[in-house]
Amino acid sequence: MIKKVLKFGGTSVGTIDRIQHVANIIKKEQGSNNRIIAIVSAMSGKTNELIKLSKNISNDFNKREYDVLLSSGEQVTCALLAGALINIGVKAKSWMNWQIPILTKGEHSNSRIINLSTEKIDDFLKDNGVAIIPGFQGISENGDVTTIGRGGSDATAVALAKIFKADICEIYTDVDGVYSTDPTKIPVAKKIDNISFDEMLELSSLGAKVMQSSAVQTAMMYDIPLEVKSTFTNRKGTKIFNQENIDYSKSVTGVAYSKDDAKVSILGVEDRPGIAANIFEPLSKSQINVDMVIQNISSDQKITDLTFTIKRDELSKTISILENNKQIKYQKIVHNDKVSKVSIVGAGMVSTPGITYKMFRALSDEKINILAISTSEIKLSVIIDETNTLKAIRKLHTTFDLD
Ligand code: ADP
Ligand code: ASP
Ligand code: MG
Repeated sequence: MIKKVLKFGGTSVGTIDRIQHVANIIKKEQGSNNRIIAIVSAMSGKTNELIKLSKNISNDFNKREYDVLLSSGEQVTCALLAGALINIGVKAKSWMNWQIPILTKGEHSNSRIINLSTEKIDDFLKDNGVAIIPGFQGISENGDVTTIGRGGSDATAVALAKIFKADICEIYTDVDGVYSTDPTKIPVAKKIDNISFDEMLELSSLGAKVMQSSAVQTAMMYDIPLEVKSTFTNRKGTKIFNQENIDYSKSVTGVAYSKDDAKVSILGVEDRPGIAANIFEPLSKSQINVDMVIQNISSDQKITDLTFTIKRDELSKTISILENNKQIKYQKIVHNDKVSKVSIVGAGMVSTPGITYKMFRALSDEKINILAISTSEIKLSVIIDETNTLKAIRKLHTTFDLD
């Protein structure tokens, strides 16, 4: 007998037919003598629809009520799936975040799961029941409903796999695994059979939304093996685990992209010690995460230009902090939110020289201008004009033998 956490994403539970299909998958899994905890997302599009409703009232909708609103999407799916299971003769029961309770810490919309009580659910599992639990949410120490960030049902699944000491955590979704790049955008993308936690963490943090990055981080920290597989086909999925014998035969494992960055340049800023600290300290105090930074060498040693990137939805806050910063003198601030970040990721990059040059050459062959660069041991990211995103991914995918 093994204990499994199965997570079903939005598309997998997007219609009544699909919920019934998921119920059949669970019935089959349980029938093979397994104990099943199912984590569900809201039906596809639901969370976005709820966000839109809140925006119709205010762009600054009350944070507590925002989480109450957003958490409702998963409640609907829980009840429908439990009902569908009962309807086909499987003992099943849904629990809401506050009934368990799933305890979280941190601010609204961005909390993290710290603990939950397992006793009632474990008893139900032992009694051949299937437990259905909402992803993406919890309650705070003072009893308020919280949510844990977009795509957060992945993180719920991993946290529950850890707390319930599950043998495996399976992520059921609308693609049949992790691919070398987004297969819905680049059809020649190839499925990866096995991938290390490190590479998956880079890919997901750089935009591959097939797994949420904080979920991968938790899985890596507690060594919880994951499998990403399709709800709609029986094809073998992708195993994500702590790979000790990584295959270094390929320098690059995947190409990821995101369109949620923005670039800010401060032109003609005084060039003297402490200026970078004066610029970035107030941003960091306001929880704005600066990603890449480029400072030009000033020709006259008096003024310079400084460019950095941030998340796009923090652009207006960033500009207003800069404009109100009395510690810095500059000529002009310019910004561009029509940029995207394209990255190559691969554990094999560590031991292969010339990857950087190869990436830059490939982009220049396509006449794509690089606006900013950042590197780490196993990734290389560039900021480019948003209109060139697909062209860049296609070119890099071919250049690094991934087609
Ligand atoms: P779910 O609703 O099941 O959580 P998501 O939409 O969050 O599903 O994630 C699955 C999607 O991730 C796919 O439909 C695909 O478009 C996208 N994706 C991006 N990069 C990749 C990749 N490298 N491999 C597979 N899917 C990817
Ligand atoms: N429903 C939430 C979202 O759309 C959580 C999830 O699907 O993982 O972000
Ligand atoms: Mg997801």
